[in-house]
Amino acid sequence: MHEIILMKLGELVLKGLNRRSFEDKLMANARRRLKPFGEFRVYTKQSTLYVEPKGEGCDLEGAWQAMTRLFGVVGLSRARACAKDKDALLETAKTYLDDKLRAARTFKEESKRADKSIPMTSIQLSQYVGGELHEAYPHLQVDVHHPELTVYLEVRDYAAYVHADPEPGAGGLPVGIGGRAVSLLSGGIDSPVASWMIAKRGIALEMVHFFSYPYTSQAAKDKVLELARLLTPWCGSLTVHVVPFTALQEELRRSCPEELFTILMRRFMMRIAQRVAQRIGAGALVTGESLGQVASQTMDAMRCTGQVCSLPILRPVVGMDKEEIVRIARTIGTFETSILPYEDCCTVFTPRHPRLRPLPGEVEAAEAKLDVEGLVNAAVDGIERIRV
Ligand code: ATP
Ligand code: MG
Repeated sequence: MHEIILMKLGELVLKGLNRRSFEDKLMANARRRLKPFGEFRVYTKQSTLYVEPKGEGCDLEGAWQAMTRLFGVVGLSRARACAKDKDALLETAKTYLDDKLRAARTFKEESKRADKSIPMTSIQLSQYVGGELHEAYPHLQVDVHHPELTVYLEVRDYAAYVHADPEPGAGGLPVGIGGRAVSLLSGGIDSPVASWMIAKRGIALEMVHFFSYPYTSQAAKDKVLELARLLTPWCGSLTVHVVPFTALQEELRRSCPEELFTILMRRFMMRIAQRVAQRIGAGALVTGESLGQVASQTMDAMRCTGQVCSLPILRPVVGMDKEEIVRIARTIGTFETSILPYEDCCTVFTPRHPRLRPLPGEVEAAEAKLDVEGLVNAAVDGIERIRV
């Protein structure tokens, strides 16, 4: 008989989040992610989300992989369906979980009956199947407190199911339940990780990328689009707003003190990202800034860039070491792409001695010589939207 996927829901108890909207969001996200793998029935019952293939031709392995990246799920297992009968359950446990039963030294049995028509209590069913398994695998000891393997039996409406311990899910909250944010995505290691961390907390993202053609190449842009694409199994499909940044950078180089170039450029990034946020109804900006990493990532610099922007700026990696960020980048699969050697707009015209601590009024004085609104408008008007 067929195999299904069972998923345990995450932090349902969050204040202000009601269970119904959590479940609905999670199911909608699951259905969308499952589309490429065939037709599935998706429903929830008792804090469990069920994914059942409808008929043949479903790619269950693909579906499984997709569901391991679904935020809002804390644990998931594959289960094998069988007839609602004690011996069918026993046989299914033996064949479906044979590898695991051989590998474990200790086990226990746990049964649940949603359908009470089976003529045994849950305890009797556990005792029967557990006893028979103990006989069939004589090396196994029963340990009800800390078993290496738990064999679960569930008798439900349509069928009965056998499964082993759940594997860890992606955790977090269903994407979209906490609103939207605009994430500033460079080609580096940090901003994809920062984006992933915010998406994990239930925020739907759109990306902004500042592109300085021809100082940065088409290949550098493709790399950023690839990073965005690599995030889609976690975040869902994404829009990348590619902002033409060359004219603005050239203007800054022409008319501003060199040592303020970086900080001024970053203030323009925030202004432009905030415009995008307003346009799409986003409630925050996200960056991959980490304290002390580079000259523009001091507290003073963050205050100075934050001043041009009324939305909160979320910096989820602010307190993390590079190694910790790299570890996440590796597990989510963005690291190898991030380290491809292409330029970023931040490295174009980098001042030799960037000002670490801008003096009061200095930045405003430099900006007073610029047509700030005009520069922002021109950049926003030139945005190219790419769906990945
Ligand atoms: P990353 O590894 O994310 O590139 P970084 O350590 O190189 O970060 P910076 O280059 O100073 O740091 O950039 C800090 C943050 O500013 C980035 O994490 C990103 O959010 C944003 N940022 C930098 N360059 C761009 C860009 N070209 N387009 C969009 N956002 C950018
Ligand atoms: Mg960078």
